Amino acid sequence: VTCYGFIFKHYDFTTFWFITIGMSVLLDGKKVAKIIADRLQTAIKEKGLSLCLAIVQVGDRPESTAFINRKKKFGEQIGVEVRHMHYGESITTNELLEEINGLNQDAGVHGIIVQLPLPTHINKEKVINAIDPAKDADGLTAVNLRKLMENSKGVLPATSRGILSLLEYYKIPIEGKKVVVIGRSVLVGRSTAMLMVNKNATVTICHTHTPDLAKELELADIVVVAAGKKGLITSAHVHDKLTVIDVGINVSEDRTLIGDVLFDEVQEKVFAITPVPGGVGPMTVASLFENVFDAHVDILS
Ligand code: NAD
Repeated sequence: VTCYGFIFKHYDFTTFWFITIGMSVLLDGKKVAKIIADRLQTAIKEKGLSLCLAIVQVGDRPESTAFINRKKKFGEQIGVEVRHMHYGESITTNELLEEINGLNQDAGVHGIIVQLPLPTHINKEKVINAIDPAKDADGLTAVNLRKLMENSKGVLPATSRGILSLLEYYKIPIEGKKVVVIGRSVLVGRSTAMLMVNKNATVTICHTHTPDLAKELELADIVVVAAGKKGLITSAHVHDKLTVIDVGINVSEDRTLIGDVLFDEVQEKVFAITPVPGGVGPMTVASLFENVFDAHVDILS
């Protein structure tokens, strides 16, 4: 149904409709993240909270600094202090563990994240698991990942939570649907697959040893692409009932950010798609702050 240049793409026209680009629904992470920001800002003000998120960075990777700056900006918007703990490459695992311990003890710090990747000489698992699970804003400690496995209440990995919130906002059903996740990292692929199972989807995880991605996608309702390989998903992989969540962040030849999906050709064929940038990225940042807020409110209650 076309109406004033927009196309309705939902069964329930009375309560909801989508703005579409070309032929598909644009899942606008920037817009939804702003809605979350407004909600958090109001709740923080109403409750009179003064929250602080500590971000631990080791080294000077420009991409990491750019991601941290986005988190600082979001924190500023909603009235949460972001404390940037910046260490040189020469810091040892033990020294970093002591720093994390200090943040755990600090009653003025409500959330902690370690900006990944860490330099290879640092024991990543040890450092992440040193974070107090109640302050684990990224949801990546073993305690919170186990809760995700058990489908019990814990802190969700921020990217997975962001993907879920985006699908929920656009009323894209998950229960009973077939979800294909491409990528099996703990940070994104595995965690998102487990969250989708918890939401009653039937889930397939694909990775570098999957022989035929197109075949796996034939019957999929939703695909979450988190491989970090530009051009991995083309129009040949997709169909008109598919929702495409592109998590990938890659740098194109002209130095702009692009995802794992060839957006221009794929968006013409699918039901819905996230852009890169402006899709999952802003949702991850928003979810991080939702995690800090929720964990703190839980402690208060
Ligand atoms: P990773 O390198 O740890 O994992 C990539 C996974 O993709 C691996 O499990 C691998 O088996 C799989 N893979 C790689 N090439 C493949 C191929 N050709 N076919 C099928 N599977 C393949 O990366 P990660 O940390 O999971 O991140 C994935 C991507 O998501 C990266 O581009 C990263 O920058 C991005 N990312 C984005 C956000 C966000 O908020 N938007 C958050 C985290 C990561």
